[in-house]
Amino acid sequence: MDIKALDKEYVANTYGRADVVFTEGRGAEVFDHRGRRYLDLGAGIAVNVFGVADPVWAAAVTEQVSKLQHMSNLYYTEPCVKLARLLCEKTGFKKVFFGNSGAEANECAIKTARKWAFDKYGDFGHSTIITLKNSFHGRTVTTLSATGQDAFHTKFGPFTPGFVHASAQDAGEVRAFAEKGDCCAVMLELVQGEGGVVPLTRDYVDEVVSIAREYGLLLIVDEVQTGNGRTGTLYAYEQYGFMPDIVSTAKGLGGGLPLGACLLGERVEHTLGAGDHGSTFGGNPVSCAGAVSVIQRIDQKLLEDVRRKGEYIKKALEGAKGVKAVTGLGLMVGILCDKPAGEVAKAALARGVVVLTAHEKVRLVPPLTITDEQLREAVEILKEVIGA
Ligand SMILES: *Cc1c(COP(=O)(O)O)cnc(C)c1O
Repeated sequence: MDIKALDKEYVANTYGRADVVFTEGRGAEVFDHRGRRYLDLGAGIAVNVFGVADPVWAAAVTEQVSKLQHMSNLYYTEPCVKLARLLCEKTGFKKVFFGNSGAEANECAIKTARKWAFDKYGDFGHSTIITLKNSFHGRTVTTLSATGQDAFHTKFGPFTPGFVHASAQDAGEVRAFAEKGDCCAVMLELVQGEGGVVPLTRDYVDEVVSIAREYGLLLIVDEVQTGNGRTGTLYAYEQYGFMPDIVSTAKGLGGGLPLGACLLGERVEHTLGAGDHGSTFGGNPVSCAGAVSVIQRIDQKLLEDVRRKGEYIKKALEGAKGVKAVTGLGLMVGILCDKPAGEVAKAALARGVVVLTAHEKVRLVPPLTITDEQLREAVEILKEVIGA
């Protein structure tokens, strides 16, 4: 079967795909339809936290799928409840809303903030949400509005009103918006992922947190990409020393199945009531059974490994030939090269190493469980490709 030709003919042409058909794998090793081996530093865009076909995750998923795959949220099911309790116990959040993707997790965060402001003021006069320039929050019309990049605001208007974009370096811009008095929340990624793996500085975040407190704004952290162990803590906010009011997450949460979650803190735990929000597939038993297996195993030992492996990549690449800068946190790494990132990604793939790009950078988000040996092999090849 000519998969590439059929894809072009029948699948909506929204993706510029790399020239490879993947068929199977194990952990950080994946194979194409010709049986060629690749080392995977992309993990399906920071999704496969335990790599491909992780046996413990696969067992949890297959056990659930052969018992009950779906019943909808009109009824109770166990995996969704188990996962919600696990997430709350591990974080201190009070309640969880489940959807199927990062964009949906953010939609829930946005609706919650607006409803919270409506309950408080009795009108829509405080509905504005401050997000940051260079952010990425999703592909729905509303999360595109939230996304602070002009390139996403060109073709699909009119966009949802009620978002303003502040500098991710100068907290003065956040203050200026807060002073206008029409805002309910600040929403940020602590490491801007799609925007080029750019961690916010601790000083900047401290300032934004104190502005939010001063003006009574909710703090929403988009941990769709940074969450679920990726940065070396279960959630990245732990490393910034504050407790958000709302955290959205997805990508790695389901270990490879579609699942998003919106974690609700004390101030908003009662904001959404029956009928206010919903999702047919949200909290799907199979996705949740897999997620329980993932979240249970993100323990201190694994998180330590994530930090150590992240440091290893940084050390190996900093100062290497053709490398201008290395950014990131834990196993979320951005590499600014002399060569264009797309060229590096293509050449790496030809050498059997899968990497992603983010704006002008090469982006590495490998499975958290990639072995030291696999990591060393992949980084050596990457160094050669970047330096060639
Ligand atoms: C990927 C991503 C999203 C969108 O997630 P989808 O599952 O594609 O809807 C939102 N926010 C951030 C920070 C992301 O990295």
